[in-house]
Amino acid sequence: MAQIFGPVPSRRLGFSLGVDTIPFKTCSLDCIYCQLGRTTNKTIQRKEYIAADDILREIEEVLQEGKRIDYITFSGSGEPTLNSEIRRMINRIKELTSIPLAILTNGTLLYQPRMREDLMGADLVIPSLDTVTQEIFKMINRPHPSLKIEKVITGIDSFSQEFNGKVWLEIMVVKGINDSLEEIEKTAQVIKEMNLEKIQLNTVIRPPAEEFARPLSTEDLKNIKTILGEKCEIIAKFKRPTQKVYKRDVEKMILSMVKRRPLTLVDISHCLGLHRNEIIKYIEVLEKKHKIRTEVHSGERYYH
Ligand code: SF4
Repeated sequence: MAQIFGPVPSRRLGFSLGVDTIPFKTCSLDCIYCQLGRTTNKTIQRKEYIAADDILREIEEVLQEGKRIDYITFSGSGEPTLNSEIRRMINRIKELTSIPLAILTNGTLLYQPRMREDLMGADLVIPSLDTVTQEIFKMINRPHPSLKIEKVITGIDSFSQEFNGKVWLEIMVVKGINDSLEEIEKTAQVIKEMNLEKIQLNTVIRPPAEEFARPLSTEDLKNIKTILGEKCEIIAKFKRPTQKVYKRDVEKMILSMVKRRPLTLVDISHCLGLHRNEIIKYIEVLEKKHKIRTEVHSGERYYH
């Protein structure tokens, strides 16, 4: 399974089967908080980066196994909507199963009518909008040069009005970058017009691409939540799952590998033959248990 990972316990979506539609790390943004590291292919070009038929074949195989899956989620190694065949994949999955389908997107391409139409078959779309100010957009999301925040806002707004499914907007707040009262109030004003079911407030809880991307305290998040209003929730930590998706042997293998020498996410993923997004879940737990620590060298994050 090269393009499918999980089901992995997700903080928001329960047991989520991840679908990766693009090569690592292809994205229209290069967010300073990205848990996958820096973007190596910054682009807004949509094409069939990975063959839709191959992805669909893998999904069909996993569905036949009959595992508990709460959501099929397009996420993965960058921006999933860059795959131009996403509409065909969504429609085929909806023919195969009644499991709800979610798309995690940075929302930057939703200004394109074709892009919005492509996502209409999904059940839940979670776009991100961290700021409404171009200068801060450049600092926190380091966008493709053609992207302007006004266009991104218009795209997300139009999509939220046209889409029949649910839209949850994610806002990632980074200390000292987009957390000023002025910026949060401006953001609250802008998103008020959008047709959102939820606003999900997040901060840097996984190792970021850049060391200087620091998290907010729970107290600060609560204050921001008050400004953003009733629809806003702070994304709660996922409780330990009852289903045995967290495999102790994988945890042990990661620990024995990083004990010998520091390794990157990509190294661990190659060695274990598991998707990077799956490894991230283990690393999150190991960090919480203080069994693993990280260091950044020449822009690459290493696990010890
Ligand atoms: S956080 Fe998402 S949008 Fe930002 S660089 Fe990473 S993959 Fe792209």
